[in-house]
Amino acid sequence: MRNPKWHRDEIILALDLYSRMEPGKMNKSHPEIIELSEILNRLPIHDVRPDEAKFRNPSGVNMKLNNFKAFDPTYEGKGLSRGSKLDEEVFNEFQFDTNRLHKIAQKLRAISEDQELAYQLYLIENEDDREFEVSEGTVIYKLHKYRERDTSIIRMKKEKEFKRLGRLPCEACMFDFFQKYGDLGYKYIECHHRIPLSEFSSKTKTTLKDLALVCSNCHRMLHRKVDTLSVERLKRILVS
Ligand SMILES: [Zn+2]
Ligand SMILES: [Zn+2]
Repeated sequence: MRNPKWHRDEIILALDLYSRMEPGKMNKSHPEIIELSEILNRLPIHDVRPDEAKFRNPSGVNMKLNNFKAFDPTYEGKGLSRGSKLDEEVFNEFQFDTNRLHKIAQKLRAISEDQELAYQLYLIENEDDREFEVSEGTVIYKLHKYRERDTSIIRMKKEKEFKRLGRLPCEACMFDFFQKYGDLGYKYIECHHRIPLSEFSSKTKTTLKDLALVCSNCHRMLHRKVDTLSVERLKRILVS
């Protein structure tokens, strides 16, 4: 059985290391390649690993780095095997944006180093069909979802707003579950985290101000464009 294909987040980590390494020094015993192999093994993406022993082992990581050489116009060697289509897309996306590449990679590393957090993120379902839509990557998106499921701060947010307004309408469309569903919808509303994914990291602490109360439909729509769509913009879309 083969291990799962490399995910965008994993390719980002590999490309980040590639961009920092001298091409001639890439080999499977290099400490940074061994370290990346360990990070990839802790990254909360693939829980199914048919060939556990080989999963992102140093030689596989080394091969991945070497595959980038074929896409790299600055590399002069010949006869290299090319990586996948996705490797090429990620390479092209970040070729001239190594700062952003490094920023995302640092966040992924920090998450994989936090054992408890990584475990919690494993429990959040993968949404593979949408991996290309989230430019910050799946793991950061999972972190967004995890933070907005923090029940104690959600309870505080809802109580505060209920005290203030006497009801809990959606901040984007004003939908009110109680008004529509009666007792069944009493005090029901979802919470969306406002901090943009580009600023999200394992160090992000949620405050009440970061949370928006939204109905389930608006929440879904916000997540379809979670990189770019704010609650305020959605509100404007609904008005126009
Ligand atoms: Zn709504
Ligand atoms: Zn959300």
